[in-house]
Amino acid sequence: MASVELKNVSKTFGRVEAVRDVSLTVNDREFVVFVGPSGCGKSTLLRMIAGLESVSSGEVCIGGRPMNNVAAADRGIAMVFQSYALYPHMSVAENMGFALKMLGTARAEIDRKVVEAAAILRLEELLSRKPRELSGGQRQRVAIGRAIVRKPDVFLFDEPLSNLDADLRAQMRVEIARLHRQLETTMIYVTHDQVEAMTLADRIVILDKGRVVQQGRPLDLHERPANRFVAGFLGQPRMNFLPAVAERVGDAIAFRLAADRQPLFSTREGLRLAPGGTAEIGVRPNAISLVEDKGIAAEIVLVERLGGTSLLYLKVDGLPQLVTVELQGKPAATIGSSVRFRFDPADAHVFDGQGRSCRL
Ligand code: ATP
Repeated sequence: MASVELKNVSKTFGRVEAVRDVSLTVNDREFVVFVGPSGCGKSTLLRMIAGLESVSSGEVCIGGRPMNNVAAADRGIAMVFQSYALYPHMSVAENMGFALKMLGTARAEIDRKVVEAAAILRLEELLSRKPRELSGGQRQRVAIGRAIVRKPDVFLFDEPLSNLDADLRAQMRVEIARLHRQLETTMIYVTHDQVEAMTLADRIVILDKGRVVQQGRPLDLHERPANRFVAGFLGQPRMNFLPAVAERVGDAIAFRLAADRQPLFSTREGLRLAPGGTAEIGVRPNAISLVEDKGIAAEIVLVERLGGTSLLYLKVDGLPQLVTVELQGKPAATIGSSVRFRFDPADAHVFDGQGRSCRL
């Protein structure tokens, strides 16, 4: 069993509260991704699990055993860093076997494990090369190989793909997902890249200012964000937020744009929202369509054609930010022309003045 349990874990550096009272359990064999903006505390949380950072208060358990006073080397974990931290003078095979050599493992045993890990990572042909003779992606695979040979109970990844270009990142993402299926080991992965989080995670934990703001399955978080922060963080292109006013009309609530009072939509769904209050309507760019009439009036200010899809940026009178619309294909769209747009009320997220989701 290699579950990881955090009980009321906090970390302060002087006056900075990097992690505040985090409690969560990572189940055996689960792939959990910690995600959040720069400085939210995700690396510190991972480093406390690794034993590279002490906890200021609370407790870290791995496999049910308290770990606060256990050295990093004795926690049964292996960590993969963003900077691959390979030894430049050693070959790939020596780099991968180094930790085992330090543990006094027999040479034949080391060789066997290195060859096994090299096969998993498709590094067989490269075992005698030096790190400088490898591409970035190959170096990162060696760094992962070095973790695999130790057969850890838990893998910890700290932004392992950030130094790679977009293509390689996508390839390595697939490799890491395959690795998890093959090794069936608990993995905790830190990233600020929401695509990595969405595609790799069994469960995403979203952090902001040292706290967990929401956790759950990737698509659940995407479809039912608890607040504006999560809604804006997950999903590419980013969700649009339209400042709105809400009025009660009979048993429905009608929303209008705060800027110019254009009607947005009305709904009979139960919402936790004070009547007459202000709200923000969140709509994803792919949930918006252009219509002939009865939509919200806007002007096209920019068009980005991406091949399969196109992004239109619309200016609405009085609204400071542009509205992003994602359309399939190559729609005829001219900068400067007037258009109307709409969205299905079912695709609208309603957030109250504090940014909380108003869904009941
Ligand atoms: P990034 O994505 O930029 O790496 P992060 O979410 O991983 O950010 P952390 O590195 O965990 O964030 O840092 C959380 C907070 O703690 C930040 O405000 C950071 O400046 C602070 N911090 C981290 N390590 C230290 C340290 N050794 N001494 C002082 N402050 C630190």
